[in-house]
Parts: sequence; C-alpha cells; structure tokens
Amino acid sequence: MTNSTPSDFRSENQSDQRKIPFSEVVITRTRNHFFGRKWKTADIQVASWFIFVHLLALFAPFAFTWEAFWIASVGCLLTGMLGITLSYHRLLSHHSLKLPKWLEYSFVYFGVLAAQYQERKNVEDLKNQMFYVFIHKTYMWHLFGCGALLYACGGFSYVVWGMGVRIVWLYHITFCVNSVCHIWGNQTWNTSDLSKNNWWVGILAFGEGWHNNHHAFEYSARHGFEWWQIDVTWYIIKFLEAIGLATNIKVPTNLQKFKKSIFSSDDTFND
Ligand SMILES: [Zn+2]
Ligand SMILES: [Zn+2]
Repeated sequence: MTNSTPSDFRSENQSDQRKIPFSEVVITRTRNHFFGRKWKTADIQVASWFIFVHLLALFAPFAFTWEAFWIASVGCLLTGMLGITLSYHRLLSHHSLKLPKWLEYSFVYFGVLAAQYQERKNVEDLKNQMFYVFIHKTYMWHLFGCGALLYACGGFSYVVWGMGVRIVWLYHITFCVNSVCHIWGNQTWNTSDLSKNNWWVGILAFGEGWHNNHHAFEYSARHGFEWWQIDVTWYIIKFLEAIGLATNIKVPTNLQKFKKSIFSSDDTFND
C-alpha cells in the first residue's frame, strides 16, 4: 500500500485507487499482503507469533481479574512507554537524549518484553555492545521467561493479561502511529509528507501521536510541543533530567521551528 496526495490522483490508473474516509489520503493497492506472495521462514515465524498472542488475548474476558488487569496496565507503562517509546524510539533510534548505561539497558530490556520486531538500519552502533548482541541471540527466551514468571505468580489469567492483552494492545497502538498518524489529524509543519498530529493517538501512544511534529524534528526528545499536546514520555524525560539521569536532551530551537513552519516561506530560508 502506498500513499499519495490527491494531486497525484489524476495521473494514475483510477481503478485501483480509493480515498480513505474523512481524510485527503488516496491509496493505491500495489500488492496483496496475504495471498500470492512468497512466505519466507521469518514471515511465517512473525505471522505465527502474531496469531498466537492474538488468540491468547481473546481469552481476556474469561481470565479477567482486577489483579491481572493491573499487571497488564503497569506492564504497558514499563514495556510500552519506558521500553518502546522512550528507549527504542527516542533514545536508540533517534539519539534524542542520553541515559547512564545501567538505565539504558534496563529500559531496553522492558522494550524486549514488548516483543516488537524492530529491525532498524540506524542502530548499527549497538552491534558492538555485548548486551545487545546477547539480547538479539536470546530474544524469544526472554519472552518465554516473562510468560513463565507470570504463570508462576498468578496462573493463566496473568499470562493472558500480562502477555496477551498487553502485547496485542501495544502492537495496535504502534500500528496506529504508523497508519492513523499518516491519515487523520493536523499538519503544523512543512514536512512534504502525510504525517499528522493526532491527539487521541498522542494520549494512547505516550506522546507518539504528535507525528507531524516528529517527522519535522526527528531528533527531538519532545514530541508534544504545546502544553496541550500531551506527551507522557516527555514528562518522564524531564523528570529523569531533573534527578540528573537524562542528559544531552535534544529539542528544536525557535529558528529551526520557524524554518519548518507552514507559515514561513521556503524561498527565504534555505538550508
Ligand atoms: Zn511516520
Ligand atoms: Zn522516529
């Protein structure tokens, strides 16, 4: 699936194209994701895992207890917010801040337990660090270990909520950032793409929903620039800075913001 703006619309064959409701986005389906494709071993592994955790999550109503619910909720904060958003995304992918190694490794370990398969090109530097090599080689064992620990502490309902519900919830929030935030919302910056600021994804995804802000200033540790753009991950980063743990925190300057603003003229400010 590729995205295109309405102005591209006329030049292509219109039969394959659809407009997404309540948006300006027109999509062209370029290939079928399920049928008539070559399934590699890695694809099958990922698909099997996806089916497995979704099936596990389906037991949620039958395995519900308040304790299990809170395990899932706190687990979302630790593995989704500290793990994926703060450490995988803002720290490792974009180098938006620095943390002491013991804290970086702890947060990244939480991220491992969110089971998000992120093969990124911009993390080459991690391959020289023993910790990351070890995690990469033993990845699935940490997930099995987490599942076993939950089972030992609270039985099947802890596994359903602490693994199934938590992981599936975080997957769909992450997918929302990469789909919803390229379709619905507002643009504040000249990014020449479809990225959008979307308030409800901003809340659910710990600040990642301010995605037009992020596309404009990828290096920024702060995604919600206005006081009303709720960015919980940023509040955590500010707290870590206040207690002396987070340093080298990058945010855009006023001049950088002015250059990217949709009100500024591209002719006057060229880099
Ligand atoms: Zn994006
Ligand atoms: Zn990013």
